[in-house]
Amino acid sequence: MNNLQLDDFKTDENAAMVLLVDDQAMIGEAVRRGLAHEDNIDFHFCADPHQAIAQAIRIKPTVILQDLVMPGLDGLTLVREYRNHPATQNIPIIVLSTKEDPLIKSAAFAAGANDYLVKLPDNIELVARIRYHSRSYMTLLQRDAAYRALRVSQQQLLDTNLVLQRLMNSDGLTGLSNRRHFDEYLELEWRRAMRDQTQLSLLMIDVDFFKSYNDSFGHLEGDEALRKVAATIRDSSSRPSDLPARYGGEEFALVLPGTSPGGARLVAEKLRQAVAALEIPHIAPAEGASLTISIGLATMTPVQGTDCRQLISAADKGLYLAKHNGRNQVGIE
Ligand code: GH3
Ligand code: MG
Ligand code: MG
Repeated sequence: MNNLQLDDFKTDENAAMVLLVDDQAMIGEAVRRGLAHEDNIDFHFCADPHQAIAQAIRIKPTVILQDLVMPGLDGLTLVREYRNHPATQNIPIIVLSTKEDPLIKSAAFAAGANDYLVKLPDNIELVARIRYHSRSYMTLLQRDAAYRALRVSQQQLLDTNLVLQRLMNSDGLTGLSNRRHFDEYLELEWRRAMRDQTQLSLLMIDVDFFKSYNDSFGHLEGDEALRKVAATIRDSSSRPSDLPARYGGEEFALVLPGTSPGGARLVAEKLRQAVAALEIPHIAPAEGASLTISIGLATMTPVQGTDCRQLISAADKGLYLAKHNGRNQVGIE
């Protein structure tokens, strides 16, 4: 099938483009005269069978009238060639034979012909068959183009859904997972850890003295600092199953499935140092300070009847300890 689009076929379904392939110019002339006064039928004549495929590709006929007996090339061979070529494989072929012979007829249909007429056919019958085959070919093209358009829009819909899903799950300011996605993910990983009896770790991360940061530098600078902290949290989670999220305000969370307390502590300490190393200037706790974070850490192997809120609550207690003990540190209950 060629690469035409749906719009190409909206023009005129009744228009036919006929290609007659016959070595005898006399036949060509007779058919031309027979079709001359028909509305919407274009006629092309090809006297050289070796040029037939090339000409068919060029003029895109909606019907091919094919002579069977030609010097140098058997008409049936040509019919098979049309069928094997992607540009001509579905074009209706009406075979023009010199006689009404069941054997030839059966061979013609076996080769891929759609119709069989004995030369020279009555003009009314020829026109009727040309119009019939041409119209069904146009319908086929339109149907194929419609299916292609449908497949394209289905794919676009899938792509759009993916984008929407990503948008629905992500936080607008930082691009990390949002609270909704964090809740879903933690619940999922909690149940998985319960099934597999593996350790699930959680970091609750809170920016230190952030209210005074906003007060001193303004909310826009505050937003920028949150973005930098978020990017550092994203970089510190290395496994595909780790999930960095914005928990709310200047609080972040990092879900670490399959991670022991020791492993989680390493991640937390590295993250704390990485944020300090950003050296974002701050005025608290003292003039000349840098922005820091406090982290609460908890690890659990869930048992039946428990809830992932227990893990959040334990990490929160760790965070409280970190704040209470002077901030810029990792707290474990
Ligand atoms: P602590 O060290 O105890 O955590 O003190 P803190 O000042 O960080 O804590 P507090 O909870 O008092 O203040 C949090 C501040 O975070 C207050 C709020 O204005 C700011 N904040 C929350 N969300 C955003 C945000 O999206 N953008 C900006 N710029 N600031 C935010
Ligand atoms: Mg806070
Ligand atoms: Mg804070």
